[in-house]
Amino acid sequence: MMPVRFFTTHRALAEEEDFLTEALNGLRSSPTRTNGSLVRQLEDEVASRTGAAHAVACNSGTDALVALLLAAGIGPGDEVIVPVYSFFATASCVVHAGATPVFVDVDPDSYALTADSVAAAVTERTAAVLVVHLFHQMADMEPLRTLCDERGLLLLEDSAEAIGMTQGGLHAGRFGAGGVLSFFPTKTWGGLGDCGVIVTDDLGLADRAREVVAGVSATPWCSEADEVQAAVLLAKARRLDGEIERRRELAQRYDERLKAVQGVRTPRLKEAQQPQNRVWYVYLAELEHRDELAAFLAERGVETEAYYPRTIADQPCFSGSGSGSGPADRRASFPNAEYAATRALGLPLYPDMTDADVDEVCSAITDFYSAKAN
Ligand SMILES: *Cc1c(COP(=O)(O)O)cnc(C)c1O
Repeated sequence: MMPVRFFTTHRALAEEEDFLTEALNGLRSSPTRTNGSLVRQLEDEVASRTGAAHAVACNSGTDALVALLLAAGIGPGDEVIVPVYSFFATASCVVHAGATPVFVDVDPDSYALTADSVAAAVTERTAAVLVVHLFHQMADMEPLRTLCDERGLLLLEDSAEAIGMTQGGLHAGRFGAGGVLSFFPTKTWGGLGDCGVIVTDDLGLADRAREVVAGVSATPWCSEADEVQAAVLLAKARRLDGEIERRRELAQRYDERLKAVQGVRTPRLKEAQQPQNRVWYVYLAELEHRDELAAFLAERGVETEAYYPRTIADQPCFSGSGSGSGPADRRASFPNAEYAATRALGLPLYPDMTDADVDEVCSAITDFYSAKAN
């Protein structure tokens, strides 16, 4: 049996070698490697793909979140409502901006914030809501936007995973003051290293974000994007639409092969108020005996990854006491997030995979649950 890696880009890269050589030659002949011309092209490409008026690149998605908050004027004394189930940077960025993250449980089907759960967490100190779109679909944005408008809260989006996702025709990251994208290698539009971008329709916010990123604002911070990643990402942009389509085919194949397997809950499609376009970034199934299954799959050469193995509230820097910069002391339980943290597993999903790879993962999963049933 051939092993199935969690993620590779070998095939895609082989096909891009010509472009990469060309890009590297361009870099070699440029008087300085940091003149930013490829980064500016990347920003234009992001703006045209998302429809955002402005795109400001920086060194990572994590840094883009910090820059977005700083540019939006979030700081000490402010509370920012964040989902408790997400990548760590969703909450760490709030601390780095000097504000306090307030954790809220997520919807069990979309793994996202809902207007009801957010409304219950708003206080007189709430300055912003940072909505996250995870895995293959967006949060239901219309009710969240209405709530933020009514309460005078800033709506921000951690749309790091959401390239290509839209609701009511509007791209993720554009529902409030601003959003971000990540180009981390495993992301749908991934580079070979780190890069991120802030998207916004607000010129003032874009200008402030540019100052923060360049290290010329009043905040002691900076995070510039590099030309090499921009070259890679521009090459990748040419194949992105085809890759998104391939991800959809692979996800459908998983669905077909797994939906009848006892013990497996395939990803749910949660409807939103507005019609939406989904993009399969992660194929996340909820699985009985998840850790035992993951170990069984690893023995069969199939790599998987638990997304996310613990809630953010259970991360060491937030669960301890006395850090001083931790969340407001409202220890709550987060049943939906805690349930997901023990069951959710990302299966391999990337354009380099073949149909046979999916079949191999699915037959290993089927074998595991057949053995359990006997
Ligand atoms: C990937 C990701 C980030 C961070 O992006 P990096 O480029 O890896 O720093 C932030 N939030 C979410 C939800 C992500 O998936």
